[in-house]
Amino acid sequence: MNTLIKKEFNSIVGDSRFRDRLEDLLSYSYDAFTVESVPDLVLLPVSTAEISAILKVASEHQIPVTARGAGSSICGAPVPVNGGIVLSMTMMNRILETNTPDRYCIVQPGVINGDLQAELAKSAFFYPPDPGSMAFSTIGGNLAQNAGGPRCLKYGVTSDYVLGMEVVLASGDVIRFGSRNVKDVTGYRLSGLFCGSEGTLGVVTEITLKVVPLPEAYRTVLAVFNDLDDSAATVSDIIGAGILPAALELLDKVLINTVEDANNIGLPREAEGLLLIEVDGSEEQVEKELALIVEKVLSNNAVDIQQARTAEERDNLWQARRSLYPSMARLKPNCIVEDATVPTSKVPEMIRGIRAIIDKYKLLCGIAAHAGDGNMHPLIACDLRDHDEMERVEKAIEEIFELAMANNGTLSGEHGIGIAKRKYLSMAIDKPTLKFMHTLKQAVDPHGILNPGKAI
Ligand SMILES: Cc1cc2nc3c(=O)[nH]c(=O)nc-3n(C[C@H](O)[C@H](O)[C@H](O)COP(=O)(O)OP(=O)(O)OC[C@H]3O[C@@H](n4cnc5c(N)ncnc54)[C@H](O)[C@@H]3O)c2cc1C
Repeated sequence: MNTLIKKEFNSIVGDSRFRDRLEDLLSYSYDAFTVESVPDLVLLPVSTAEISAILKVASEHQIPVTARGAGSSICGAPVPVNGGIVLSMTMMNRILETNTPDRYCIVQPGVINGDLQAELAKSAFFYPPDPGSMAFSTIGGNLAQNAGGPRCLKYGVTSDYVLGMEVVLASGDVIRFGSRNVKDVTGYRLSGLFCGSEGTLGVVTEITLKVVPLPEAYRTVLAVFNDLDDSAATVSDIIGAGILPAALELLDKVLINTVEDANNIGLPREAEGLLLIEVDGSEEQVEKELALIVEKVLSNNAVDIQQARTAEERDNLWQARRSLYPSMARLKPNCIVEDATVPTSKVPEMIRGIRAIIDKYKLLCGIAAHAGDGNMHPLIACDLRDHDEMERVEKAIEEIFELAMANNGTLSGEHGIGIAKRKYLSMAIDKPTLKFMHTLKQAVDPHGILNPGKAI
């Protein structure tokens, strides 16, 4: 990028929020996937007006612009593969309004999910989407990836909570859609288009989110199995019985032991499978659902059921779940998390199939799943420098996706496509539909400057 153009950008944000030294740029060249690419410039805007001005200049010179939240994506989504500008949204991190009588809050995109949760905890309301990265990922990044998490089984994913948005388009034009109303069918539902678009259609600068009342009570149990198949079968038995837990998470033996090695919290090392199950609602409802769940768990040969008796015990169990990725990442230089998703009834078949693929390719891989909604997370510890191993990883991933598709599944339940899964898109989306997506992209971003090379 030439000096004159850089000066134009500098005049918008000023020296203190302008970065072009290599040592600064490197920090914005990667996410939690395996691909790196250094941008030419990093800008840290603080307002919609600044972002609009930046995009006008970028559009004029056809310079790629990639918005970035916390950089925690697992699919390469915020990596600036064509260089250009990284727009770090972290300084736009204010919670602008919480309005519980009207059940909404308004936030800037750089607000950390966990900070919003903490603010809402002062009221009788909460914001359900709870990605494992909630302590550091941003609401803007959650929206752009349509993030999910354990609670999404019962409560739905990010897009189910977006009431309205302000977005700066590639041209620099600012559009606002949706409203503060939980019911609103005025015009096209554009929020559905922008959720999951990975920053390829516009830069989101303000988000209105729905919030919901906190449940009165929780019950959290850990069910221990000596056979992974039994734990998987329990999942569809519970859902099939008409019980929708707040969360229903599965861990295999590799992960039980890896998490235990890293955290030492007393998980049963000898178990082949664990289910972490949480129900919420009124006292009466949680007791009733818990009794039914225990029945299903025992009829599928569980060898032990442990119930969290205190808030601290509940937190410990959830901490174990949230530490899967960092625990697994300790084993080798790299860790690839896959995200294929199938209908709940196919979970047992999928788990057996993934295990067989892992064994076939002799990989170090643990299987976790948001099992209640069929969202599989094989976590493969690997070393990018080991070409033979990476070839086996690639083959295994392709076969896992083929298996998911053969079971009426999909490529991604929550992590998105980014760079990681683009080459597999045709397995899940037919040609006319992909063409329609490209037509949409072309219409809103004719020069293709917004996060090129991602999502579609
Ligand atoms: C340990 C760990 C656990 C995780 N657990 C989960 C999980 O349980 N569920 C889940 O869904 N994901 C999970 N993730 C993945 C990741 O945290 C999510 O995808 C998250 O939503 C990314 O948010 P971010 O702020 O880090 O965004 P980034 O990674 O910085 O960006 C993600 C995408 O959003 C775009 N973007 C960011 N801000 C904007 C904006 N304002 N306007 C337009 N586009 C924007 C970027 O261009 C990029 O395409 C996990 C990741 C890690 C490392």
